[in-house]
Amino acid sequence: MPGRKFLNVPGPTNLPDRVRRAMDIALEDHRAPDFPAFTKALFEDLKQVFKTTTGQIFIYPSSGTGGWEAAITNTLSPGDKVVQAVFGQFSLLWADLCRRHGLEVIQVDVEWGEGVPLDRYREILAADKSHDIKGVLVTHNETATGVASDIAGVRRILDELGHPALLYVDGVSSIASLDFRMDEWGVDLAVSGSQKGLMLPTGLGVVCASPKALAARKQAKFKRCFFDFDDMIRTNKDGWFPYTPATTLLRGLRESTDMLLEEGIDNVIARHHRFAEAVRQAVSAWGLRLCAKEPKWYSDTVSAVLVPEGADSDLVVKYAYERYQLSLGVGLNKVAGKAFRISHLGDNNELMILAALAGTEMALRDAGIDIEPGSGVGAAQEYLRASGSW
Ligand SMILES: *Cc1c(COP(=O)(O)O)cnc(C)c1O
Repeated sequence: MPGRKFLNVPGPTNLPDRVRRAMDIALEDHRAPDFPAFTKALFEDLKQVFKTTTGQIFIYPSSGTGGWEAAITNTLSPGDKVVQAVFGQFSLLWADLCRRHGLEVIQVDVEWGEGVPLDRYREILAADKSHDIKGVLVTHNETATGVASDIAGVRRILDELGHPALLYVDGVSSIASLDFRMDEWGVDLAVSGSQKGLMLPTGLGVVCASPKALAARKQAKFKRCFFDFDDMIRTNKDGWFPYTPATTLLRGLRESTDMLLEEGIDNVIARHHRFAEAVRQAVSAWGLRLCAKEPKWYSDTVSAVLVPEGADSDLVVKYAYERYQLSLGVGLNKVAGKAFRISHLGDNNELMILAALAGTEMALRDAGIDIEPGSGVGAAQEYLRASGSW
């Protein structure tokens, strides 16, 4: 097939040419004397992406799921209680990972399409007078439903109640794309992965730990080896790793971090908001609804779009790919067949967003969903013209 494919799934995201070129290099010696100068600067600069000065970054040859495991096993003990709201496939999987490790998960089930229920977190934490709850877990951006949650709000509750639980945030589809503030929001463990906002291939789990989280590891009794913070801390200090690091991906991470910092993190966040808004304008012009129930929960990295009753969202995704080489995300679990997802996460520009919308429009009509041809693209075009900073 001539031409190029369009990748609008929420991970992996588009690989910028700059990053691809930075990784088109010979393999290198990770024990070379000049390697630490490279890694130490990278650790330092990544802190800006997480908006932290006091946190410590850990980079694993892994994926976001490994980051979840690193965060949990380094700071908790078997049998510890954690609270977690479940409102989509990713929050569900994290709760499952916690249970499989032997944590007692107080699972707060929320309707898919809503975000973290602050009032219920407050009730549960207020009732925990003896501070048995050791961790509060929040999926910042639920990638399955396109729902973003209020992390600052969770921190406020913990502070108001004087509750000492650690705050764990899954930022895999929010860090380096949505507003995320490690220090200001008092996040203790932030988890990310390479193939989303960091614009890299899959293969790195990136975790940031606060000083409080690092202190908690002294009492944490989970067995750990591959993900052990201690081994990383001991070796990273001098620019090394406890085992072979993914050097090629680290070179890519250097380049993508440079790109993020050159654009400015706040500009990156604003760009994601603008493209998300263009997609939402299109969805509304089609007469369709988002899975996210209220604007306060709208995600600026992925939009999950509900198809009308009786229609099949999987067919939209299938036609988009087979006929127009456009990858959209399928609906997962409870929203399978009911929603498809348009990702606007990572390396995109106006015309890439419009191309995705144009392909989606055709696939929607092919799947028998009677939207007005050009309506979504037209609405997005006008929004993009009006909202540019020229
Ligand atoms: C993609 C994603 C994950 C899983 O990350 P992997 O890299 O696939 O292991 C976890 N949480 C969220 C919110 C995600 O979007």
